Amino acid sequence: MVESSAALVADLHCDSILSQMSGERDLGQRSAVGHLDLPRMIDGGVKLQVFAIWTDPKKLGPGEYDPFVRRGIEAVRDLCVRNSDRIALALGPADAFAIVGSGRMAAVIGVEGGHALEGRLERLAQWCAAGVRVFTVTWCNSNELADSGGDENRPHHGLSELGRKAIREMNRLGVVIDVSHCSDEAFFQILDETAVPVIASHSGIRSLRDFNRNLSDEQLKALAHNRGLVGMVFLPYFLNSEEEKASIEDVVAGIDHVVQLVGPDYVGLGSDFDGFSGRLKGLEDVSKLPAVTARLLDKGYPESAIRCILGANFLRVWQSASAR
Ligand SMILES: [Zn+2]
Repeated sequence: MVESSAALVADLHCDSILSQMSGERDLGQRSAVGHLDLPRMIDGGVKLQVFAIWTDPKKLGPGEYDPFVRRGIEAVRDLCVRNSDRIALALGPADAFAIVGSGRMAAVIGVEGGHALEGRLERLAQWCAAGVRVFTVTWCNSNELADSGGDENRPHHGLSELGRKAIREMNRLGVVIDVSHCSDEAFFQILDETAVPVIASHSGIRSLRDFNRNLSDEQLKALAHNRGLVGMVFLPYFLNSEEEKASIEDVVAGIDHVVQLVGPDYVGLGSDFDGFSGRLKGLEDVSKLPAVTARLLDKGYPESAIRCILGANFLRVWQSASAR
């Protein structure tokens, strides 16, 4: 038996810190709204959570991105300080193992949306110094670095020259590159440029649901060749065009698709909790995560494969990315 409580369960993407920043919720307290807070993470057996600071270009304007990201970093740090008995900030894989070993959860800070750099690559090093360890190259909009799969305007046909520099700079800094949201061209060009494995933190499977936020089999094979991974997303519309029909079974089918295609070493969990409204049937919030483990056991997956999928794959990628 694999107890979720025994595996290092890692979720590669949630937007929950935005609820904390807006004052809507205290993530230290159990809530009936939203998908994720510390008590429910404990119920779900989560050991590592990437908290993405999503920089909404509809709300933020020129000059406002850097202060917003810094507020987000402070919000994650503050969450850790106020709840130090339950969670601590991990700045590297060794930190994460030590924090989990001490019986607490590891928080990792991400930034979502390369437009937040406003073309200023020096922010990568500044934000990394402040604690950011995952960077999502694009959101739904194309930016100075790369084209987005969600934007019809694709000026770079993939990566720009600045984008290539950004990839090399993240490799240098040990920041994990996140290719979710990128256009297919940008995706493949990033894989060509990077010297280390990357993640697609919250994406689905295009052969199961044809949609620009999901990865084709060709992309999944390339990701496996890169020794990176895809974090399987829980967002109903990415799983099923009739979103009310989406359920945990689609998440498990997505994981199984990757496993059948390239093996169990290149897939993980990337919920996007609090990045969408509504609830996925069977995975209504983070407390329901052990149901994924149960489904994988039912499918006859060996314990070693389940541990890889639940979190060990991400730790392997993070170690590769931060070891240079
Ligand atoms: Zn996203």
